[in-house]
Amino acid sequence: MTNSKEIGWNFDNSYANLPDVFYTRSSPTPAKDPSIVFLNKPLASSLGLHSDALQKEDGVQNLAGNKLPDGAMNIAQAYAGHQFGNFTKLGDGRAMMLGEQITPQSERFDIQLKGAGRTVYSRGGDGQAAIGPMLREYLISEAMYALNIPTTRGLAVIKTKDPVYRETELSRGILTRIAKSHVRVGTFQYALTLDDDDALKALADYTIDRHYPYLKEETSPYLSLLEQVMERQAALIAKWQLVGFIHGVMNTDNMTISGETIDYGPCAFMNTFDLNTVYSSIDIQGRYKYGNQPAIANWNLARFAETLLPLLHRDEESAIKQAEEVIQKFHSVFNDYWLDGMRAKLGLFEKENEDKVLFEDLLDAMKKYKADYTDTFLALTNNELEGMVLFQSEDFLNWHEQWNKRLQKQNKPMHEVNELMRNHNPALIPRNHLVEHALEAAVDRDDYHEMEQLLDALSNPFAHSAKQAAYAKTPVPTEPYQTFCGT
Ligand code: AMP
Ligand code: MG
Repeated sequence: MTNSKEIGWNFDNSYANLPDVFYTRSSPTPAKDPSIVFLNKPLASSLGLHSDALQKEDGVQNLAGNKLPDGAMNIAQAYAGHQFGNFTKLGDGRAMMLGEQITPQSERFDIQLKGAGRTVYSRGGDGQAAIGPMLREYLISEAMYALNIPTTRGLAVIKTKDPVYRETELSRGILTRIAKSHVRVGTFQYALTLDDDDALKALADYTIDRHYPYLKEETSPYLSLLEQVMERQAALIAKWQLVGFIHGVMNTDNMTISGETIDYGPCAFMNTFDLNTVYSSIDIQGRYKYGNQPAIANWNLARFAETLLPLLHRDEESAIKQAEEVIQKFHSVFNDYWLDGMRAKLGLFEKENEDKVLFEDLLDAMKKYKADYTDTFLALTNNELEGMVLFQSEDFLNWHEQWNKRLQKQNKPMHEVNELMRNHNPALIPRNHLVEHALEAAVDRDDYHEMEQLLDALSNPFAHSAKQAAYAKTPVPTEPYQTFCGT
């Protein structure tokens, strides 16, 4: 008897009702002497799980994949994807889904063990994960969540005593990932390769049921699905751009249909504002650089649209026309979200035609004077315009005058303006140097204190507390920062 009830596991496995081609039952690779290094207690509680019980033997064994909770049905999902533009058949090569946890609020979340072992989709890989990248995913996804950006989250990070071989021998880690679902653009691309309209329809209906149930009544539910996914992705990417988040590997298999950010590999936050910023060591061409993210999302959505064509219309030309009309709207929908976000960052309550010019003038000046993106908005919020070359420049002073005119024109007291700005300009972001420093202590010395502190500071980036000020210092530029996929 396991203690699943005591822990609070409450699984359903709706994904397994899809045709068999969409998944494969898989057994996790036993983990040696697993221990929990991070447990997300607030998240556990919102899922209806009891942290005390999760920390006991059975709970740890569940999170390590050594013992399956009652009702779990460990499966690896099939999917395909365009990786850096090239189409490949993929699938969960090192992740296994335990099932869908039904929360006390009757919400449904995938519980997935990332780094659980080899599956039929593993290709050459070992199916495992090193502890460092799993800690990194845990840290950054929590920071994203606190920044109000839709994201998958980490319930726990497990460390084991197994060796994982990369360039060197590392410790093995397993991340319990929570997602609204793991249905990706790549899942639909995979469905299309089956050349089986029933399977494709089953996936589309499943997705609508799970994420967009209100579309069932629409006259063209599949076209509406495309529209909704486009809308959510536009909203998501706008949020990324507004905080300077660079995903780093926006392959179509790393784009969810739910609109959550997924797969924190070589991602990083931008320091100095520059549309050309790229941190990932594997993104040689800069395909996924900061300024390209909206265009790449649009491209990925076009791949998604292609998969829906057989469901849109019997006549292919009509289907293409319908899909194109939706995809062409992405840019303006994205732009509207971005403009809304920028207005909030600058304390503006009302739309005006000149908004775009006003925002671009500021960004141009930031680029010209190599200003830190987050710090610039923070300085404007706190009205502490010192310590940056930008603030002494004529370009900025002119811009500041224009901005002040706009602020005065709107009939809002300054405390409301300030509140709006404080709620949209984080006091801190997971700066690359802070993340690396905390991870180094955790990975090399088993010292989690720094990461705990950082997680705590990042848990409410809009608090603007004194404690956070220490983290908000712009890093001294060192050698160019690079992130690695680090599987
Ligand atoms: P990602 O870049 O994390 O989105 O992974 C791309 C694909 O590679 C997915 O199908 C992963 O499951 C697979 N993959 C990544 N690392 C490994 C690994 N160590 N073993 C097996 N498959 C892996
Ligand atoms: Mg992926």
